[in-house]
Amino acid sequence: MTMPVTFVEVVEVHRITPRTARITFAAEELPDTVGTTPDQQLKLCFPRPGQREPRLPARQDDPMGWYRAYLALPEAERPLMRSFTLRGRRPGTRLVEIDFVLHGDTGPAAAWALRAAPGDRLGMVGPSALYAPKVPFAEAAAAADWVLLAGDETALPALATLVGALPEGVRAYAWIEVADRTERQDLESRAVLAVEWLYRDGAAPGALLAGAFRDRALPGGEPFVWLAGEAGAVRAVRRLLVERHGVPKAGIDFTGYWRHRLTQDDAPTAEDLADARERSAGY
Ligand SMILES: Cc1cc2nc3c(=O)[nH]c(=O)nc-3n(C[C@H](O)[C@H](O)[C@H](O)COP(=O)(O)OP(=O)(O)OC[C@H]3O[C@@H](n4cnc5c(N)ncnc54)[C@H](O)[C@@H]3O)c2cc1C
Repeated sequence: MTMPVTFVEVVEVHRITPRTARITFAAEELPDTVGTTPDQQLKLCFPRPGQREPRLPARQDDPMGWYRAYLALPEAERPLMRSFTLRGRRPGTRLVEIDFVLHGDTGPAAAWALRAAPGDRLGMVGPSALYAPKVPFAEAAAAADWVLLAGDETALPALATLVGALPEGVRAYAWIEVADRTERQDLESRAVLAVEWLYRDGAAPGALLAGAFRDRALPGGEPFVWLAGEAGAVRAVRRLLVERHGVPKAGIDFTGYWRHRLTQDDAPTAEDLADARERSAGY
């Protein structure tokens, strides 16, 4: 399976909330499948200081071959890679939208997004069916009595595409923790969707989300839960779902999107590795 790799160029930057930049890129190449399903994950490659654009190995048929070529680049020239979600694609064009959480100047992705301007260039790896969930979301949602999506602002781009893909009649809940009231976004869905915003207002990341799962009751029946955000919070919420609410592990799709005080380049912790083993065993 080929991993799509292309340069993308900024055409528009729009602050959709005080801490979220929606950036529209023109992709040099874009397969037709991009933007046709929800929660499409991709990697962005950021230039090193002094580079006008990142150095990208050419696309290869073997995705691991591309990654090996990437690792073989001298470290000083190798682009920094970060994970993102396709928020949308403008129909009939090669224009894609990606929402960046502006969490500060500490990480290369957020620092780049703070200053992004038309003409700036990044590399985009994926989206690819390789990153697609084992059970498609719509299928898992249809088999459940109700659906719950929970996460923080980094999960919002994926969550928005997922609720957008839910069919009419599905009973769905979204619990979303954001910095404060100004970070709310409108979500569109044909499902019967109840959205609950949790405002951090200075509290530690994930504290409100975990608190909600500790303090509240969930509806009866068999749910399907989609969970993403800060890795420690995701872990705590998953534990509460299983131990306090009796949700079977197989009914929870969970992913740590970022790690408090660790960058995406830092080595996985023992807990990250345990999560990865559980995910590959089928959640
Ligand atoms: C599958 C997947 C999809 C994702 N989709 C998106 C998306 O669409 N939009 C998006 O904005 N993010 C998304 N993320 C999260 C994003 O990859 C991380 O937030 C990443 O760490 C950002 O890189 P950085 O270079 O800004 O910071 P890093 O260099 O990775 O980290 C630098 C510092 O910033 C802190 N940090 C990182 N992210 C945050 C945050 N959100 N809030 C507060 N502190 C933070 C770290 O703890 C660290 O101390 C996704 C992650 C995954 C795994």
